[in-house]
Amino acid sequence: MAAARQSAWESAQIQLAAAARHLGLEDGTHQLLATPRREMTVSIPLRRDDGHVEVLRGYRVQHNLSRGPAKGGIRYHPSTDIDEVRALAMWMTWKCALIGIPYGGAKGGVTIDPRLYSQNELERVTRRYASEILPIIGPERDIPAPDVGTDEQTMAWFMDTYSVNKGYTVTGVVTGKPISVGGSQGRGGATSRGVLFSAFAALREAGVDPRDVSVAVQGFGKVGGLAAQFLHDAGCKVVAVSDVKGGAYNSMGLNPAAMIRAMKQGLDSVAGYPGTDHISNEELIELDVDVLVPAALEGVVHESNADRVRARFIVEGANGPTTPDADEILEDRGVLVVPDILANSGGVAVSYFEWVQDLQAYWWTEDQVNDRLKAIMEGAYAEVSALARDEKVSLRTAAQMIGVGRVAEAHRTRGLYP
Ligand code: GLU
Repeated sequence: MAAARQSAWESAQIQLAAAARHLGLEDGTHQLLATPRREMTVSIPLRRDDGHVEVLRGYRVQHNLSRGPAKGGIRYHPSTDIDEVRALAMWMTWKCALIGIPYGGAKGGVTIDPRLYSQNELERVTRRYASEILPIIGPERDIPAPDVGTDEQTMAWFMDTYSVNKGYTVTGVVTGKPISVGGSQGRGGATSRGVLFSAFAALREAGVDPRDVSVAVQGFGKVGGLAAQFLHDAGCKVVAVSDVKGGAYNSMGLNPAAMIRAMKQGLDSVAGYPGTDHISNEELIELDVDVLVPAALEGVVHESNADRVRARFIVEGANGPTTPDADEILEDRGVLVVPDILANSGGVAVSYFEWVQDLQAYWWTEDQVNDRLKAIMEGAYAEVSALARDEKVSLRTAAQMIGVGRVAEAHRTRGLYP
């Protein structure tokens, strides 16, 4: 019988242990970094539109605060639980440190399938969740953002709830907000643009022309949809995309922009899109393409399918899509994995720009945002790749070593209190 697939929290711990080993971290520091600093679990009573009350569970985990306020998104998903939120919070800590922005890591979540709730119900869930975690949130404490199942409207409700409770408007309490209430130009597409930059950095380094490359993207939400479009616009041939209901494949290439438009006009899934063959999410992972971009959930490349991945490059738009077991198999097979904390860090990079703009009440142009994002991502890629070469480790281990090393160093410099 196959061993159980590694969970996000197990994966995060295994990755940290590898980085700690390579860095020669003392046990106490490893323990400290393995343990979330602060966790809050709340109940969220919701009056449904039909009048009955149901009680949901919500979480906010602040993994580490050594380098600055906590930062990380809020996820609405039926399988979200405290362990998943812990893993996602830990990955935020390393991600922020890796790209050199002055934050610790956090994540929030509500166990809910948002597709089964009306907009009014989601507004009530968000406002109650925001009120419950309000004591540990704030622009100098912990700054949420969108993640799977939440969007800029969720952030607007969150910001409004926080502000009404304070008695004045606090735009810097969340990022990923609509432009009309202090959002940043370029935040909407930032994670996807970062996926493009890191994919191109990997291809360039391998001497591969992006115009010769075929791509499959799993996930057609905020990250996957625009990543497919940006890669297509930059000359790659995107042959497959998918969402929760399944995928669409055409060996001649798809037109992601047209598919995004169709979804905005009410198409319910990319599965079965006109002119394409229907494929499952599992089949997409194993497609014969050059670049695979998993941009949905954790654990989709695992011990049991890693040996069937045919892509030469995996660029992780999602957090934690590859388990450590799969990492080993892929490394042996020479598949280059551009790890999540590097490849998807464009989102939090522009969240940082948004927060800086909110605090200064001074706004940047979209070109300024995109140029600064490119500089951060290319700089981080070059650092990771150089360390990977020097230490003869994977890009994941190198990225983790840089992130973990910077947090450990901040902790050491501040000292242990008391
Ligand atoms: N949810 C995104 C991530 O996982 C963005 C977090 C943020 O902007 O704070 O990186």
